[in-house]
Amino acid sequence: MIRTGQHLGTICQQVALAPVDCRVLLMHALHLTRVQLITQSERTLSAEEAQQLSAVFQRRIEGEPVAYIVGEREFFGLAFHVTPAVLIPRPDTELLVELALAQAPHQARLLDLGTGSGAIAVAIAHQRPDLKVTALDVSRAALEVAAANAVRHGTAVELLHSDWYSTLGTRRFDLIVANPPYIVADDIHLSQGDLRFEPVDALTDHGDGLGDLRRIIAGALGTLEAGGWLLMEHGYDQAVAVRTLLGAHGFGDVQSWRDLSGIERVSGGTLSA
Ligand code: GLN
Repeated sequence: MIRTGQHLGTICQQVALAPVDCRVLLMHALHLTRVQLITQSERTLSAEEAQQLSAVFQRRIEGEPVAYIVGEREFFGLAFHVTPAVLIPRPDTELLVELALAQAPHQARLLDLGTGSGAIAVAIAHQRPDLKVTALDVSRAALEVAAANAVRHGTAVELLHSDWYSTLGTRRFDLIVANPPYIVADDIHLSQGDLRFEPVDALTDHGDGLGDLRRIIAGALGTLEAGGWLLMEHGYDQAVAVRTLLGAHGFGDVQSWRDLSGIERVSGGTLSA
């Protein structure tokens, strides 16, 4: 597909890929910075480079997400290591980070449930070194990725292997955040596009989409300090259901916040004494 001797600057005009995907894969395969990609547009490809490029382009054409091919995705201004063991961090999830940063009191103990790549916990810890951040996941493979990201960004995030609250015992936290699996089991999107390559257990509860959100809300009653916030990301049509669940469990200040597309994406409430 890609020929030896071809100019760098012409490649993305002729492959069947989104221009941004093509550029990111080019930088990755040829170890070039964004600036080098532009300044070296007249450079020609060696046989080895042409072969490497063809291989990564082919993976993308077959549907593999760019983040898994390059092993990295930016979130909240930081580069996160990602593997197929973790969900690829989404820009919409930055809302959850912003809300947690706004609500976390000085030196608060913060818990991130189902941390995956650690993007949420590490982004928070990176912004707020005063906080004591704990993150857990049921997947040991995910915890390895999260550990690498915590080290990469110089953050002291405590990582625990736990199925939601199961191993926390009597520990208490001042703020709880979660981006749990919330896609409905039979949602067509699970079998389309990039989602096909992501860990299905991180995307869906294999039920009505609210199963893990229910568990998180119920479990927060015994884990969250009085006055503390529980903040959860959820699906585009789940805000009313999540607010109702929070209210039914006695949470106050129940509300939702909109993401970059104007969709109610995070809901939360506080626990009264
Ligand atoms: N926001 C993701 C998506 O719709 C789902 C993430 C999740 O289930 N927590 O692709």
